[in-house]
Amino acid sequence: MSQTIAARATSLLDRLGVPADAYVGGSLASFTPITGEEVARLKVDSLASTEAAIARARAGFEAWRTVPAPRRGELVRLLGEELRAAKDDLGALVSLEAGKIPSEGLGEVQEMIDICDFAVGLSRQLYGLTIASERPGHRMMETWHPLGVVGVISAFNFPVAVWSWNAALALVCGNCVVWKPSEKTPLTALAAQAIFDRALARFGDAPAGLCQVLIGGPDIGAALVASHDVALISATGSTRMGKIVGPKVAERFGRSILELGGNNAGIVCPSADLNMALRAIAFGAMGTAGQRCTTMRRLFVHEAVYDALVPRLIKAYASVSVGNPLESKALVGPLVDRAAFDAMQTALTAARAAGGTVYGGERVTIGPDTAFYARPALVEMPEQTGPVLEETFAPILYVMKYSDATDVIRKHNAVGAGLSSSIFTLDVREMETFLSAAGSDCGIANVNIGTSGAEIGGAFGGEKETGGGRESGSDAWKGYMRRQTSTVNYSSSLPLAQGVVFDID
Ligand code: NAD
Repeated sequence: MSQTIAARATSLLDRLGVPADAYVGGSLASFTPITGEEVARLKVDSLASTEAAIARARAGFEAWRTVPAPRRGELVRLLGEELRAAKDDLGALVSLEAGKIPSEGLGEVQEMIDICDFAVGLSRQLYGLTIASERPGHRMMETWHPLGVVGVISAFNFPVAVWSWNAALALVCGNCVVWKPSEKTPLTALAAQAIFDRALARFGDAPAGLCQVLIGGPDIGAALVASHDVALISATGSTRMGKIVGPKVAERFGRSILELGGNNAGIVCPSADLNMALRAIAFGAMGTAGQRCTTMRRLFVHEAVYDALVPRLIKAYASVSVGNPLESKALVGPLVDRAAFDAMQTALTAARAAGGTVYGGERVTIGPDTAFYARPALVEMPEQTGPVLEETFAPILYVMKYSDATDVIRKHNAVGAGLSSSIFTLDVREMETFLSAAGSDCGIANVNIGTSGAEIGGAFGGEKETGGGRESGSDAWKGYMRRQTSTVNYSSSLPLAQGVVFDID
């Protein structure tokens, strides 16, 4: 098995165009969660090579910012084409390195393709407003200009999609990108860079340093964060990381997009279609082995339907297939590493101590001892306390009974994170209240679907400890540009705003 999986990684990397010297003989070991074994050893960047990459990007920006946006879009169109051609191999590498089941590995690459399509269209838009001036013979307008170098820091669980959400928009907006992927998933980053380089070669006349990847740990991320030459830091990861990165960027008046942890909840109302809710909750809570930022972690079920729904959910938890995603049709793959499994067990112990009844959660032996598979856990909790208030990045769903429609929204919002939320109801009052200003306080609020699996067309991100950033669709592109307000006087006099008089001879 050991050789087979490493050999599989090598042949995927080879087909994806990654030269072997990038991942053989280096100091950063890359492991597959599927067996826990080492599959490659990557060369890492130093602080000096990080500075050099930022300088190359800064120089590249001087040229790229003046390339017409639709032409910049052509590069992203070619990137989308290359991703389509590489979809199967890159999806398989995502599965191998992040442990995702095959359809989720492929789904991640599809998201990359979707954002490229979106960004190509955007490259002919990037609209500014014209504004009515109070002065005769004057015109006011807004223009959106590129920002500069965009530093992308990404998490292990969406090892390549997060880069593409940022890079596709940043590039059409006229920026250069320097990417520091998770040290847990560097191979997919090398593959994404190789795919980008193929698009670049077909594109032709692009400046050097347009899009680069840096391999390394938090110290390399910290160097990006500290650099005054990096105009925007887009950081995806834990709230712990965001609490360090956010203030550091703010200290130098840099811009940041923070996409941090979630503690997402669903509410099942008396009128809910329970069959639909069951499937949505099962995918939302157990999919990707609970390792999505949008994973459903809390569930409030109305007392009138509690007994009709929760025993069925417990049954689904007991029967869901857990297994090696390369060898089976399992729906739940491995946890990323031992630390994730330990964190899960710590949370379950705390839940028991707080009066919770735990179903599942035990280790499932699949392959060598270095792999960490767990049966997803459902925990019936008497109230929202202890571990329920925190994100544990593992498949644990805390289920609580509620009776009052107003009180449940208060409880729903009473956690630090504010990423995704959903309500299951056929009652228009309940739905509209949940979506209203007095409802969910999250960046994403869904009705009759789960908390995870967002589409590329909408702005993605969350409030409070999730960081407040927005990526992907809608007008998230504005985060990658600077706004300029201009007033043009085409008259032959000089009236001042607000009627101010300042006559000089
Ligand atoms: P993590 O915070 O451990 O690491 C994320 C990235 O930050 C890595 O590249 C890491 O090297 C870097 N980093 C860590 N400390 C840093 C520092 N001081 N300065 C600069 N960079 C630093 O997160 P993870 O374990 O890889 O991912 C899981 C977390 O990410 C979960 O909390 C999950 O909810 C969150 N996440 C959020 C989103 C979102 O869009 N909101 C998406 C995916 C994951």
